[in-house]
Amino acid sequence: MALANKPKATPSPRSHKATKKAKAKPRVANVSCANRGMNAVVLQSPATAQVNAGECLSPANAPEICATDSGGAHKTPAAITSHMKAESCEFRIDEDFAHLLFEEGEGVRLGTSVRKVVVRTDDPKYRRVGELQHFLNSTEGKPFFYGWKFHRVFDKSELATAERFHVEFLKHFEPAGEENGTRYDEDSGCPACGSGAIQIGPLVLPARRLPKSVDFASTIGGEKVASARAKRIFERERISGVEFGPIVSPGKVDDQNGGWFQLTIKSATVSVVPPTLFGIGPFDMDDEGMYRCPAGDKLGLNRLSVVTIERATQGKTDFISSAGYVGVRRGLLRPERLIFVSQKVRQLIESERLRGLSLEVAQLT
Ligand SMILES: [Zn+2]
Repeated sequence: MALANKPKATPSPRSHKATKKAKAKPRVANVSCANRGMNAVVLQSPATAQVNAGECLSPANAPEICATDSGGAHKTPAAITSHMKAESCEFRIDEDFAHLLFEEGEGVRLGTSVRKVVVRTDDPKYRRVGELQHFLNSTEGKPFFYGWKFHRVFDKSELATAERFHVEFLKHFEPAGEENGTRYDEDSGCPACGSGAIQIGPLVLPARRLPKSVDFASTIGGEKVASARAKRIFERERISGVEFGPIVSPGKVDDQNGGWFQLTIKSATVSVVPPTLFGIGPFDMDDEGMYRCPAGDKLGLNRLSVVTIERATQGKTDFISSAGYVGVRRGLLRPERLIFVSQKVRQLIESERLRGLSLEVAQLT
């Protein structure tokens, strides 16, 4: 539903006659905001940006202003593949700048300062969102959009025949296990990026914080949980490659929470290969490699496209995960492996109406 409130005042027009170095201003980057299901934009360390600024900011010419910009900020991650019926990106646009690209009634106003707009990635406006993000960041020190999330729709025939699916956990909740006494051997993680620290002992979470409306969920620390019903169904159908461990209440090591289990994937052999794209955000491929690991075990901060995997590395089990990690080790956040399931698991999720997962067709090469 679109509301037709008048947009707030726009930034003053600027006169820029030539390409210039922008002043060092906070750089906008996107990091996972897992508990909201959106990827959020945050301000990062200052960085200079080469901009080719034009005459003024106006709806008519703003996109062209940036059209000559170069660099990773304008790369488009998404191209419609044969697997996809449609791909779109949901943005949280700053209402102050929304008029630069969108009609007054376009999208949905969320409060007074943010507008939700969904743009197909094959729509020319998609690229312009990226251009405005880069331009406003460089000139105003503000983002055009704050958050983003891709949505992909696949043909039913493709879903019915694909071998592998990449799994996303839709619900993320707090607290993380670490906050409740779940232990990790940090020394076992990659010294460069912190990926892969091994969990020691059971997952510790307070029972009252475990989700009630889904069968699968993830803590913000990346610990995956599954309902007793999901466990029962997977065990009945002899789903392979997955284990269900106990979840214990804080301070009560023997008090297992019978309603929920920690879901872990036994094997991590899948090699994720190009053209899979990872980056900081839809228009920032992390050209500087800030979120990739020099040791090669971390693929990037966020996944930006459908996943392509090397067929020979996928094994034969129903659940399998990637060798590489995605994300960042920061606070309670830990890089996570990508999880893949078989066609059998997809059909089971559908027939048994198991809730909390989103599946995308994985391309095999
Ligand atoms: Zn690493």
